[in-house]
Amino acid sequence: MIHLSSTPAKIELCHVTHLYVTPTSAFMAVKGIDLRVEEGEFICLVGPSGCGKTTLLSLIAGLERPTAGKVLIDGKEVSGTTRQVGYMLQHDYLFSWRNIEDNVLLGLEIQGIKNAENVEYALYLLEEMGLGEFRKAYPGQLSGGMRQRVALVRTLACQPDVLLLDEPFSALDYQTKLKLEDLIIATLRKHKKTAILVTHDLSEAVAMGDRLFVLERNPGRVRKEVIVPDPIRQALPLHARNEVGFTQLFREVWKEMEGDTVENS
Ligand code: ADP
Ligand code: MG
Repeated sequence: MIHLSSTPAKIELCHVTHLYVTPTSAFMAVKGIDLRVEEGEFICLVGPSGCGKTTLLSLIAGLERPTAGKVLIDGKEVSGTTRQVGYMLQHDYLFSWRNIEDNVLLGLEIQGIKNAENVEYALYLLEEMGLGEFRKAYPGQLSGGMRQRVALVRTLACQPDVLLLDEPFSALDYQTKLKLEDLIIATLRKHKKTAILVTHDLSEAVAMGDRLFVLERNPGRVRKEVIVPDPIRQALPLHARNEVGFTQLFREVWKEMEGDTVENS
């Protein structure tokens, strides 16, 4: 991909360093991260536990301000949370006392944008995710995979153009996870969203991502950028796993991760 340097990236991190400071200590979670994400790309962050993946998402979401460096979205410095960025976590955070429809509409309520048009769009997404008939059900009546779909609809209902996904599939059984991977990629492509996914699962990262960043820890840095070749990238994740070159790429990423484990253990 060729980019003109004058075009702002969808997301850009410039020399981002972040320290967590307590009264007695300071810990450098990430150091000197440079990263550029183009509009519509699907990026995966992989790396050992504690290498700063969640920290990076929090910085992009505007939940934390970097100690040094800049985070830009559309060329503008991030200074707090905005509707433009949707953040979805491993735990679905659905409210058990609200039915599915009311859970989905919660984001719109919080953002103060619950109008007829937005409600209609949220309910359309619910249908699209195969949850239309569960509108009046309660979270306790749904499976883990269905609950994560509800959480995704709630996030998408606010029409963010950037989606941050922090291990959203890790609590799901394998088959549910594979189906949800396909559904998410198809939905994000259709709605032309830019996304960053954090995952522990290397096969998921290779199957879903257009590009991968392998991070290392102490301090968190980019160890390697991996560009996923077209045939794997274009296939939906389930089929991507059967594409020629998938296994080799998986091994390459695995080796990068192993390198970190060996050196730091
Ligand atoms: P990852 O998501 O890759 O597992 P995190 O971004 O959660 O890593 O954390 C990176 C490092 O920063 C870890 O060593 C973690 O202990 C530390 N850390 C994360 N959040 C805080 C915090 N609020 N205060 C102090 N240290 C933190
Ligand atoms: Mg994390």
